[in-house]
Amino acid sequence: MIVADRKPLEEILESIKDFDKIVLMGCGGCVTICFSGGAKSVELLASQIKIARKKQGKEIEIIECTPERQCEFEYIDPCKEKFESVPVVLSIACGVGVQTMNERHPDTITIPGLNTKFMGYPVEHALWEERCAGCGNCLLEWTGGVCPIARCAKKLLNGPCGGSSDGKCEVDKEIDCVWQIIYDRLKKLNKLENLTAVRKPKDWRTSTSAGQRKVEFKEAML
Ligand code: SF4
Ligand code: SF4
Repeated sequence: MIVADRKPLEEILESIKDFDKIVLMGCGGCVTICFSGGAKSVELLASQIKIARKKQGKEIEIIECTPERQCEFEYIDPCKEKFESVPVVLSIACGVGVQTMNERHPDTITIPGLNTKFMGYPVEHALWEERCAGCGNCLLEWTGGVCPIARCAKKLLNGPCGGSSDGKCEVDKEIDCVWQIIYDRLKKLNKLENLTAVRKPKDWRTSTSAGQRKVEFKEAML
């Protein structure tokens, strides 16, 4: 899932300081699961904004809505009545949701209330870790199902780097060296030979560094 974190309240207040009426739009998808953008988060943030603005002596009207997903036209279009009469929508969806709103409804500016972080999963209650960077050319089969692109600070394809110590990453001692994890995993799978061949540099043209990427599912057109 996509994991996102709410921007600091001060930053949000600054971004809406010129408005006395806004729509605060959440999303019922990934950001609901990671407690940053669901209906409850909308309610909480709306209260925080109202209290802060009251203290500033500049009250604000906030219209709340949380479509099932903010990244699809079908779900945001029914909310149109709520936001077409206001100049700004404060979105607490991921960056895709914010951009979907701006492309689909260009007469209203939609601004982000979240910082979109990564694709990950909860390793424990309310703690998410990055697991995929969407590199476009998955190599998990070769690494025993553990991703060095998302989890190695240097994104090494032939690790470890030499700085790994006691299973920890030299860049941050709080983080496990993913190449140690890959080694342990391949050992368990009797596939350590995967580490003997030098892996060629990745073709980063399939990744985010290539600019905008597209996926077309042709079968869906039939
Ligand atoms: S190798 Fe690429 S696609 Fe596969 S999990 Fe890692 S970042 Fe994601
Ligand atoms: S210590 Fe491990 S995780 Fe950290 S940069 Fe080196 S190889 Fe990557």
